[in-house]
Amino acid sequence: MRKLDINIAIDGYSSCGKSTIAKAISNRFRMVYIDTGAMYRAITLYCIDNNIINNLLVDYDLLFSHLPDIDIRFLYSSNEDQSETFLNGKNVESSIRSLKVSNNVSVIAEIPAVREKLVAIQRNIGLSKNVVMDGRDIGTNVFPDAELKFFITADLDVRVQRRFEEMKHMDGKVTYEEVLENLNKRDKNDMQRRKSPLLKASDAILIDT
Ligand code: C5P
Repeated sequence: MRKLDINIAIDGYSSCGKSTIAKAISNRFRMVYIDTGAMYRAITLYCIDNNIINNLLVDYDLLFSHLPDIDIRFLYSSNEDQSETFLNGKNVESSIRSLKVSNNVSVIAEIPAVREKLVAIQRNIGLSKNVVMDGRDIGTNVFPDAELKFFITADLDVRVQRRFEEMKHMDGKVTYEEVLENLNKRDKNDMQRRKSPLLKASDAILIDT
């Protein structure tokens, strides 16, 4: 199949099906799929493991000294038939989906130095086109010139139920209320942060899943 000379940006609220749609597009049109949420989650996991974030308080000096050492990449797994997230050489695809990471990620994601590091990597990947990327600021900030932009939404109770079903398999102790609280807080933080808040680009197509 011919390589498509376009980039596709997919943004929207937490757990509204962005990555499912992005993966389907990537499979159908043989495009490279990049899950930018996984990148923010991987940095957050690193911060938790290295005591850079405790009780939602960030040790900025420690973060800035460690930031250059954090290597995030996606490598193809033939077992899973998809690319998986690697943090400093270690496969973290499943550990970045924990509730602990979810509860800390939007605090790490609002730090400008973190966003600058990840956005530079994302733009670099997009240079060769043929990329479908999902996140919160792809259509507004990472690829403002993307040829196709979508903004995905869904009712909160539908999103919580979907994420709860997904997380139950990983962590049997997680409750519906914990997932609800996490989605609410994350959406609020993501929409209210100063740098690159979650926002529908004016030229994005709105899809309610
Ligand atoms: O997409 P996912 O729900 O895994 O993203 C986790 C978190 O990463 C979001 O709640 C948001 O705080 C942050 N994020 C972001 N910008 C992106 C992608 C994700 O701030 N482009």
